[in-house]
Amino acid sequence: MKHKPNVQAETRDLPPVEGWRRVEHTGRARTTCPCGLDTQYIPTTQATAAARSHAQQ
Ligand SMILES: [Zn+2]
Repeated sequence: MKHKPNVQAETRDLPPVEGWRRVEHTGRARTTCPCGLDTQYIPTTQATAAARSHAQQ
């Protein structure tokens, strides 16, 4: 199977300012792949490392 891991950064909603929606990054990310891989939210550095090594499988 061809792996196409995707890293999704986690964001958290902040209070809107003048009607603008604001988010901030939490420092965590989640790596998923069509093959069923799902790391859940883990530190971003670990998520990107997981994606990199997974793509080489
Ligand atoms: Zn995969």
